[in-house]
This record gives sequence, C-alpha cells and structure tokens, in this order.
Amino acid sequence: MKPQDYPPAVRQLMTQLTRLPGTGRRSAERLALWLLQNGSSDALPLAQAISAAVETTGTCPQCGFFAAKGELCTACSDPTRDASQICVVEQATDVLPIERSGFFRGLYHCLGGKLSPLDGVMPEDLAVHKLLERVKNHPDCEVILAVGSDVEGEATALFLAEQLGKLPCRVSRLAQGMPAGAGLAQADAITVMRALQGRTHLDKPAAPQQD
Ligand SMILES: [Zn+2]
Repeated sequence: MKPQDYPPAVRQLMTQLTRLPGTGRRSAERLALWLLQNGSSDALPLAQAISAAVETTGTCPQCGFFAAKGELCTACSDPTRDASQICVVEQATDVLPIERSGFFRGLYHCLGGKLSPLDGVMPEDLAVHKLLERVKNHPDCEVILAVGSDVEGEATALFLAEQLGKLPCRVSRLAQGMPAGAGLAQADAITVMRALQGRTHLDKPAAPQQD
C-alpha cells in the first residue's frame, strides 16, 4: 500500500518553494496550499509576474543596475541627471537606499561585489574596468565611493582610489556617519572615525546684538 501524499505537481511546487530564501519545508507546504486554494485569483498572476520579470529583466549595460533587457536603466537614460557624478556601490541593491534619500542626482556604478582575496574575489571579478572606462569618457567627473566600511569595503575603496588617481577625476568617499538616533556609546570605532572624517563645517551663530 502506497502512503497518501500530494500529487507530483504539488510536490514539485513545494520543492521549488523550499529554494526560496528563508523558506523551509513547512513554510513551502503552507505557501503551496495557499497558492492552490487561490489559483486563478492570485497564483496564476503571480506565476505570470515571475515569468515576465525573469524573462524581461537584465542589467543596465552602463551601470549594472536592473534594467529591461538590452536597455539602459532609468537613471542612465535620464538626460536631467548629473552625469558628472558617479556613485560607486557594491551591489545593485545598494542603489535604491541612496536614491530614496533624495539627495543624489548623479549616476551610479554597481561593482557586483567587493574585493575579498580570501574568498577569491579579485579586481577582475568586479566591474572595475568598466568604471575606469566610464571615467575616461567623462573627464573631470566626481567619483563617490559608496562601498561599505567593513574591511573588504575599505580595501575596495583604497584600490579604486588608487586606480582612479591616475585619471582626471575627483574621488570622494561617502562619509559613514553616526546612525540617526544612536549615541556614541552604540557606535563602533570605525563608525566614529568615519563620522569624524566626514564631519561638516558648521557656521558660528551670529553674536547677539548689543543695544
Ligand atoms: Zn544604468
């Protein structure tokens, strides 16, 4: 006697769902059953959306951010952007937090990682050559290094600054300030050092008028 089980297609769906980040067998089973119960209203539109996103999304040939296949991303194709500023980030997913801050009007460059010789990540594994080519085509631009402040991020920033130093561009490093709402007691030494290095000048308040 065979034990009762889900049909093969459902078992296959559960197997695929367990491949999603943070989804164990029990979660996959719950999700699969929910999808089956909401077939036409939710599951099929979801399946179509996944298929469309995977088939039509690629990376921007200029900056490496997400874009429709074979096309420039929204920022790179926007003529009102300040092309003289290139903000270098580790991953494409680092772009949106900067973008949402609303303070940056320039373009981006996604490296696709950070230097980590111990993990076998060398300069040729990152979009470094592409960055240098971009800078060569935009003399006098400013390159803002917005890579992380951990050991690998610092090594990446140092390497890029050295490479970019040979080109006619300005290089700056994103100041890593104190986290909003947190005091010095909660900050580690690198954060404090970065906050000090990235300090901004404050105008002295005008002396009170003497009558
Ligand atoms: Zn782009």
